[in-house]
Amino acid sequence: MILMKFGGTSVESQDAINRVTRIVRRFESHRPIVVVSAMGKTTNKLLAIAREAAGGRREQALAVVDELRLHHLTHGLAVAGPFAAELDRYIRTHFEWLEELVKGLSVVGELSARSMDAIASVGERLSSLVVTYALRASGIKSQHVDSRRVIRTDNRFTQAQPLLEETYTLLQDQVRPAAENSVVVMGGFIGSTADGHTTTLGRGGSDYSASIIGAGIGADEIQIWTDVDGMLTADPRILPGGHRVRNISFAEAAEMAYFGAKVLHPATVLPAIDKDIPVVILNSRRPEAEGTRITSRAVPSKNAVKSISCKPSITILNVRSTRMLMAHGFLHRIFEIFDRFETSVDMVSTSEVSVSLTVDDRENLDAICAELRQFAEVSTEDGQAIVCLVGENIRYTPGIAGRAFQVLNDCNIRMISQGASVLNLGFVIAGTDLKAAVSALHTEFFSELDPAVFD
Ligand code: ASP
Ligand code: MG
Repeated sequence: MILMKFGGTSVESQDAINRVTRIVRRFESHRPIVVVSAMGKTTNKLLAIAREAAGGRREQALAVVDELRLHHLTHGLAVAGPFAAELDRYIRTHFEWLEELVKGLSVVGELSARSMDAIASVGERLSSLVVTYALRASGIKSQHVDSRRVIRTDNRFTQAQPLLEETYTLLQDQVRPAAENSVVVMGGFIGSTADGHTTTLGRGGSDYSASIIGAGIGADEIQIWTDVDGMLTADPRILPGGHRVRNISFAEAAEMAYFGAKVLHPATVLPAIDKDIPVVILNSRRPEAEGTRITSRAVPSKNAVKSISCKPSITILNVRSTRMLMAHGFLHRIFEIFDRFETSVDMVSTSEVSVSLTVDDRENLDAICAELRQFAEVSTEDGQAIVCLVGENIRYTPGIAGRAFQVLNDCNIRMISQGASVLNLGFVIAGTDLKAAVSALHTEFFSELDPAVFD
């Protein structure tokens, strides 16, 4: 059995869904279980509906409901063939329910996290139905399973954590047998509490769902179908023309995701790592492309560096103890503040009297600095960038740092960090130097490519 997950852009329209149908057919003999995101921008729009409604802007909210209904009817019915009437009823019922909820919320004027999840879940509830009918219409035997029946979570609405043991049992008992003789289609992102309230796993949660469902049914492989060819040696927004990485380890993929390659969030593949199930990133627009295969152990490679990832726009904070030497508890006081403001820090380096750290979320930065200034001098520098060389073999290969700094001769390097995992070597430079730096590093580390690992 395999797990095939299709992201929002892969199911955004009738054309996209027809591509999905063709791809699923190719893998039919592998007995796929299909997990889908909401169509295109649906989740954003649903959340906008929720906010408008709770803000008392009922008409605006209802206008977006109409827009979404039309989109689902237009594209859904177009792929449902002889099942169009049945699907039509489902879609309309969901939107009638949503309309009632919107009217209620706009009277009450407040929005609980629980209602937010009820609304946000509509996207995946519908897209999974649409895809079920599209498969059926094209002659593939398929069956819809409401994810809320089998993905059991805690009750932290909007950020629910799956209860893996219970979920795995439900998946074994309900999904595996169903998948023996038909293609099971499920929505990603959604689940429910033990007492039946709808929850969501947090934005972008469908990959996590795919990994959980794949692990739960014991899939041979988890395919993440998206709109890129896989992971590349450089972020295409910074340096086009990078090479595709054919094989990468989970640990390397996690470092890349962390520093900007927005293909896959590392935490989402943990259930797959636990069960040692390979995860393959594939492009639904170019299904013949081989993609990137993520496995628990790296394929041996002559190239120590597998990829250069970056974060283009970050702020450095320099925090200097106002006491003579760094008193103990200094770091604790600093990080307690970041924790309270729920702001994550990407890179840290310390000296005897000062700590430098980087953040990319500036929302609470003024408030954070104000608190830090109660016991430290603080200066900030915007417009910086993190560049990171990622590769398991960096730790075993002498001279990587030397080569990197040699080619960055003209850049002012502001911070350096060789991660504790030692599979990344990161540094901070001015944002204006980023393109040139990535390009120079790419030439240095990827002029010769090991064909076993790169395209
Ligand atoms: N539809 C959800 C979102 O947009 C989940 C996902 O697509 O992964 O966040
Ligand atoms: Mg996604």
